[in-house]
Amino acid sequence: MDKLKRIKELIRQLNQCRDLYYNNSISKISNWEYDNLFDELKRLEEETNIIMTNSPTHTVGYEVKSELKKVKHSHLMLSLDKTKSLSDLKKFSDDKDCLLMCKMDGLSILLSYKNGELIKAETRGNGEIGEDVTHNAKVFENIPLHIDYTKELEIEGEAIITYDDFEKINKELPPDKKYSNPRNLVSGSVRQLDSGIAKKRHIKFIAWKVPTEKDFMLSGFQDAEELGFEIVPYSYIPKKTKNLEYYIEKLKEVASKKNFPIDGLVISYNDIQYGKSLGITEHHPKHSLSYKFYDDIYQTKLLDVEFTMGKTGVLTPTAVFEPVDIDGSIIERASLHNISIMNKLGITHKGQIVNVYKANTVIPQIDSVEEDDTEITNSNIITPLNLCPFCHSDTSIIKDNDTDVLVCTNPNCKGKLLGKLSHFVSKNAIGIEGLSDQTLQKFIDLGWLSSFKDIYYLSEHKEEMYKINGFGKKSVDKLLESIEKSRNTTLDRFIYGLCIPLIGRTASKTISSFCRKIAIRDLLDDIYVFYNYGTFNANDLNGLGEIMCKSLNDYISQKKNEIMELSKEFNIESNIRKQDNITNNLILTNMVFVITGSLNHYKNRNDLISVIEQFGGKVSGSVSSKTSYLINNNITSTSGKNAKAKQLNIPIISEEDFIQLIS
Ligand SMILES: [Zn+2]
Repeated sequence: MDKLKRIKELIRQLNQCRDLYYNNSISKISNWEYDNLFDELKRLEEETNIIMTNSPTHTVGYEVKSELKKVKHSHLMLSLDKTKSLSDLKKFSDDKDCLLMCKMDGLSILLSYKNGELIKAETRGNGEIGEDVTHNAKVFENIPLHIDYTKELEIEGEAIITYDDFEKINKELPPDKKYSNPRNLVSGSVRQLDSGIAKKRHIKFIAWKVPTEKDFMLSGFQDAEELGFEIVPYSYIPKKTKNLEYYIEKLKEVASKKNFPIDGLVISYNDIQYGKSLGITEHHPKHSLSYKFYDDIYQTKLLDVEFTMGKTGVLTPTAVFEPVDIDGSIIERASLHNISIMNKLGITHKGQIVNVYKANTVIPQIDSVEEDDTEITNSNIITPLNLCPFCHSDTSIIKDNDTDVLVCTNPNCKGKLLGKLSHFVSKNAIGIEGLSDQTLQKFIDLGWLSSFKDIYYLSEHKEEMYKINGFGKKSVDKLLESIEKSRNTTLDRFIYGLCIPLIGRTASKTISSFCRKIAIRDLLDDIYVFYNYGTFNANDLNGLGEIMCKSLNDYISQKKNEIMELSKEFNIESNIRKQDNITNNLILTNMVFVITGSLNHYKNRNDLISVIEQFGGKVSGSVSSKTSYLINNNITSTSGKNAKAKQLNIPIISEEDFIQLIS
């Protein structure tokens, strides 16, 4: 370790002397002294087997590439789950001892060594495929070209440019070529085709993931340090520490002293096996968590604003911009939500520079728009559309809760149809796989779809579908199968799918439960109750306000026939157990039922059991002194259960009697 320190010190001294001599013709030390230091370095390099990239004993030739080759990583470079909440970080650290590290704000790089030689450097890219930047890694300032380790080694870390270097380099760049932050500069530098340019950018590699055969992450760090790598600043955090804030501040201080650009911290379990045993969720390993100080802002150029139509006919503006890589995913669109927000941001023309971020590290948003003095002309202006992009009718800006929204004024607009169909087939409504918006639009254009019901007649176009480009027999068959399957549904999904204004999922469940109750009482179909009930009111539908009830009643009175016709396409399941909050009426509490013989009113025994349980009762398999009722339509039967019931004086009732009991 001391030898490594000495190597680094000698490199620093020798390089300084050389720079002074070449740039200013100043000799700080005599040639004899210089040669002595040089020889000492050479000897130490031989002894330790470590050769750093910036060692004056070796000159790395510059390479100019014509392009950066795409490379597939040997393993997925997964990104970490992110949080901005300190309590999440605390919760994580309560489990086990951890390492808390600076999260370097640069470009993630994977270095590969074989037989002690640096053989490859790859950018993280999308986690699966990155770019080969080996030629530039060889001119990074602080990595070993050669290490004293013959097995294969893949070490992950961040290429960074320190704040002081960033300022120096940026100062020398012409105004239109300046970088807004060290991350952009390092990204541009590591991806240079000419390693001569990369060399001038003083790129450093800070390792943060080192494979080790030992049990603890810390051992990997220590080993890598001995091989000559610079390790990310970290602290050891004992579990359930009360001093997490202290460690955080400490690390921020270290980073600031070293001029390291950081944008947060990363916490990992030190026990490697434990971390691995937690597995992976939603593309993130659970052994680590990244804690961000703020949402990163990325600048890009606005290309246009597109308007998409929702099911209610509102045209929502979406900003389309030049692609930016945010945390490893390529972002090129962000919703502007409504006209008010679009105006507040000051979006006026194509080519504006916009600041984009992922709100709470998930949803792309536009933070602000840079001012510029471009003249607004007919060719670059961005305004809310005058005509609906779907039906070319007039649009109009209306107020919705103090917000300006753009709507199409045509009630039969095709765009609304797409929104409605898209909602109808969505996962929480009817749930049909394979009907993307694009496909729905195609079918609308072909004249195959103008209502929900039409979906169930798409099979008539099967042969034509086979011929549509990009469809293929397999996917068509799969789609039609999914449509057939969707005929079995529940009333709440059916109601939700209808796109009744103001009626969302929860309201749909409430309505469906109410219909179910009436249906049981009157021995009717749930769906029949739905469209024939008449006027629903807030008393019936606990949780729905008057306005929602009015919307529901208006809808049913206008579309009763349509609903009835549509419902014929479905088998609406009446398995009561699958629905929530059916009734608060637990009149069968403490009662035990036994069921025997065949049933007439309930589809099967399970249905009847569901109803009994729904009302608070229990069902048992055999008659005993604890039985309250035996349900048997054949009261005079001489079956064992009937005999036992009679013997114990337990009432035998029919299904009809039972229904009387609960209504
Ligand atoms: Zn329209």
